[in-house]
Amino acid sequence: MIHRDFNTVINGTTTSLDCDKDHDSRARLISRLLAENTRDIIFRYQFEPQFGFDYISPSCLDITGYTAEQFYRDPEILVKLLHPDETVDSSMMHNDFVFGLGLSQMCWICRDGETIWVEIDSKPVVQDGQVVAVEGIIRDITNRKLADIKLVKSQRSMATLLCNLPGMAYRCKNDRQWTMEFVSAGSIELTGYEPDELIESKLLPFNDVIVAQDRQMVWASVQVAVAKRQSYQITYRIMSRDGQIKWVWEQGQGVFTDAGQLEAIEGFITDITHNKTVEASLKASEEKYRALIEASDDIIFQLDVSGKIEYISPRVTALYGWDVSELTGEYIKLTTPRAELSNAFKAIRTVLKGGTLKNFEITQRDKFGRLIPMEVNASPIMKNDKIVGIHGIMRDISERKHTEIELRRVNESLKEHDKMKNEFVSMVSHELRTPLCIFKNIVSNIMAGVFGKINPKLHNNLEMANSNIDRLARIVNDFLDVSKIEAGKMRLNIASVEMQNMISEVVETFLPLIHSKNLHIKVVMQDKPIMVSADKDKLIQVLTNLLSNSVKFTPPRGVITVTMNNYNEQVAVAVSDTGIGIDAQNIEKLFDRYFQVQKTITAAIPGTGLGLAIVKELVEMHGGKVWAESELGKGSTFTFVLNRSNN
Ligand code: ADP
Repeated sequence: MIHRDFNTVINGTTTSLDCDKDHDSRARLISRLLAENTRDIIFRYQFEPQFGFDYISPSCLDITGYTAEQFYRDPEILVKLLHPDETVDSSMMHNDFVFGLGLSQMCWICRDGETIWVEIDSKPVVQDGQVVAVEGIIRDITNRKLADIKLVKSQRSMATLLCNLPGMAYRCKNDRQWTMEFVSAGSIELTGYEPDELIESKLLPFNDVIVAQDRQMVWASVQVAVAKRQSYQITYRIMSRDGQIKWVWEQGQGVFTDAGQLEAIEGFITDITHNKTVEASLKASEEKYRALIEASDDIIFQLDVSGKIEYISPRVTALYGWDVSELTGEYIKLTTPRAELSNAFKAIRTVLKGGTLKNFEITQRDKFGRLIPMEVNASPIMKNDKIVGIHGIMRDISERKHTEIELRRVNESLKEHDKMKNEFVSMVSHELRTPLCIFKNIVSNIMAGVFGKINPKLHNNLEMANSNIDRLARIVNDFLDVSKIEAGKMRLNIASVEMQNMISEVVETFLPLIHSKNLHIKVVMQDKPIMVSADKDKLIQVLTNLLSNSVKFTPPRGVITVTMNNYNEQVAVAVSDTGIGIDAQNIEKLFDRYFQVQKTITAAIPGTGLGLAIVKELVEMHGGKVWAESELGKGSTFTFVLNRSNN
């Protein structure tokens, strides 16, 4: 029984070796020394009379934590050693090992619970044509295995990284076709081609993916970089599988052998179409603005923090004779007349402190000394929250200034004329008033029979004369009022006025006229007296004007209503009629001087167009308001509101 012999021999050889010169014993000695001193485990595993180790070298203790004794005694030891998570794989390996089928790897769990990997190299021992045992070496390969696992892991994370990168990683030959050796999955999104279709140019060489016009540039750039052993960055276009042109950015470098031979090129390509389009539109808009700036008569400028000109648009040459180079780097002193300097510096300081200039006016000098009024709009240039300069726009306002001056001149002469006209009107009116008074007196006296009895025909004529004198007097009074108002000479004689009284008084004077025109009048107001601080005569004038308009513009059988409403602080008086009305577009103009709604409509009704203008002035002088509401053909309402007095 050979295993017994083997066992006996090895375990029994404890005696010294010096005198045993026998070749066989020498070989045994060497194998014993080897077995006892190697880190690997040498073993023999027998099948007869039962399965179990009949030799295992002492290093089994170092590796597994079990002594040789335990290996010999425990027939289950191999099952105990198998790692529970690895049982499927390991038990197959276990069979390989048991049948002596060469190298097998197993995961073991040591006595102290530590996991180790072992490699078992086993060979069958054949006796009389029968396998009676296996023998071999068990080696601890944990470190190697862990390194392998780490490598697989890092390869996996590299693959994940490549998958997640927005682009394609590659390794290719340095040939005109860029024959690919490796292409990451990113190629699908970037080019539309599967990595397999590009690798080894199976479907097409990568060079064909590059837009034809860019191929030479790509080739040349890579060759230059490779020759200098530098990395390269290139931007070019590719045509993806669906025919789309894309801008890509590529970074790569040559991979060299230790001997310095170029082995391959490795790099990364990413889509920058979006950046390119943004860049292109930015460039286009920049160009558009530059063209605009250059064509514009406005001057764009930029100053640094010391007030030096950093940029000025080239139009400055055509318009003001200055060369851009003459002004750049200069202080604005060059273009600003002495008298304006302190103004200019003050403005610059304002902007440098974070303010802005809005329609700031300053005179500038052109190259030939001509002074040009300019308007400046400017604001600070910010960089990282700091003011680093000023930018702005400057506009020639000569023309506007000229128009302004002209306008002012015209305005002044108009005012002068107006004043002369007012003085004239006022003088004439005064001159007319006295004779009118005298006529009125004479006519009244004759009609009253002071100078004797008169026949009815004469009486009729005198009545006509009388009403014409009245009308003339009213016009003269209107003229006088307007010129007084314009000259600012209209004075109010303020006193406490009882509104009900005032209204009744005015309405009374209108009754004869209202009856003669076959109109009706209604007065709606509360009994409790309402007091207003006002000039009573002026209020009478206001109400008289409104009522006389209503009577004038309301056909027979119409109704005129005077309403007074009393609010907390205010009192409102409205004069309504059911007359011809006023269309919307004319309502706003009613209160303008000399305004009359289309002469054709009111031609039959005389007037000066001054009445409502005077009404407005008088009401506003009292701190009140007046407005009109009307509908053509239906009637009008004129309302004025006054503040009530406190008492
Ligand atoms: P005038 O002396 O011409 O009446 P006003 O300033 O009093 O001048 O009125 C201006 C114009 O407003 C009138 O010519 C008339 O066209 C229009 N108007 C004023 N009041 C009324 C009203 N109650 N109904 C219709 N139109 C009116």
